[in-house]
Amino acid sequence: MDLSRAAAEAADATDPLAGFRARFTGTDDDGPDRLLYLDGNSLGRLPRETPAAVARAVEQEWGQGLVGSWRDWVQQSGRIGDVLAEGVLGARPGEVLVGDTTSVDLYKLLVAAADARPGRDVLVCCADDFPTDRYIVAGVAPARGMTVREVEAHIDTGLELDVLARALDERVAVVVLSQVAYRSGALVDIAEVTRLAREAGALVVWDLSHAAGAVPADLTAAGADLAVGCTYKYLNGGPGSPAFLYVRRELQEQLRQPIWGWFGQRDQFAMGTAYDPADGVDRFAVGTPPVLAMAAVEVGARLSAEAGIERLAAKGRALTELVIALADEWLGGHGVAVASPREPARRGSHVSLAHPQAWQLTQALIDRGVVPDFRTPDRLRLGPAPLYTRFVDVWDAMDRLRTVLGDRSHESYPTERSRVT
Ligand SMILES: *Cc1c(COP(=O)(O)O)cnc(C)c1O
Repeated sequence: MDLSRAAAEAADATDPLAGFRARFTGTDDDGPDRLLYLDGNSLGRLPRETPAAVARAVEQEWGQGLVGSWRDWVQQSGRIGDVLAEGVLGARPGEVLVGDTTSVDLYKLLVAAADARPGRDVLVCCADDFPTDRYIVAGVAPARGMTVREVEAHIDTGLELDVLARALDERVAVVVLSQVAYRSGALVDIAEVTRLAREAGALVVWDLSHAAGAVPADLTAAGADLAVGCTYKYLNGGPGSPAFLYVRRELQEQLRQPIWGWFGQRDQFAMGTAYDPADGVDRFAVGTPPVLAMAAVEVGARLSAEAGIERLAAKGRALTELVIALADEWLGGHGVAVASPREPARRGSHVSLAHPQAWQLTQALIDRGVVPDFRTPDRLRLGPAPLYTRFVDVWDAMDRLRTVLGDRSHESYPTERSRVT
């Protein structure tokens, strides 16, 4: 692999997604000191179309249309859901709904799934999964007289299928798992896990938060039953933007989610006295959706769909490949180790580097215009979002990291323990 900057420039010149970069704010500056944003897996950049879309929702739909705009707004959750279904998730129309947060959507689907497996008393989750996922599982289990079985995953290479298989038996009702591990980027095979769980009679609720917009989920092809995920990471929906949930069509009528709100009610405006869930994915809605925030989600979802998930994933693999190659070439002598799967097919679009002073390195990089993030215990996490990150951006960020390690300027930063937040 040619690791010169010229090779990175050449990769940008033939990148089929190159044109998408200009559709995000903050991408004009091409100078040597420009900001290098490698945290798109935490909060995606702002699409240029978004301010106008939000302004339109505020000024026209709300300001002028007032309550009459509900005619459109009631369609919004399902309409954006369909964009995600067909353009990003490999699902069918009518299977995805946008609204609530990932945590709340996970709760809803987890409880619905557990109810659909009466007589089973174990919930399985991954010991290294994102905290909210583990907390939701830990909260739901005792409330239903169930226990939690946590499967161990390798901090760098992720969950092994045989480890999961050993945890599955006739007591397991539901498995909660992330497709892409938030720290390492390790990817698990949705189709394989779904097959294993089905053999054991269990349902899986997938968390696609670190995957949606970065790698294909192919939910229909994989036979997946249930999933949730964020829209503010690779889908660029903005801070706190509502999440999505997916329920396979064939399951929708069998499942009943636990938060009985009027937006999940059949013939909502008949104001019926008793709860009678709507048909289809609408029954997984709860209350009034965040209409203004959804205007931003729609722009982000359409951008990813337009780019195409296979192209996004291919570029993500190439960008992370470059991070790994440069880390091996330049940083190994400085005590930096790659802490993500090396096999491209086994990782999402972010990479972690382990270093004992990862916290200080993160601070030093931020002061030098590179935005990564720190993850416990000693990981520097780099997320080059494929929609707007160039190969030269990765090269320059790694070059700045090499400079910091070379002049040891990170050593003057306080350690993580003195962190104020
Ligand atoms: C980011 C993320 C979340 C966030 O959940 P919220 O309810 O939106 O705060 C949940 N799970 C995973 C795996 C994530 O990566």
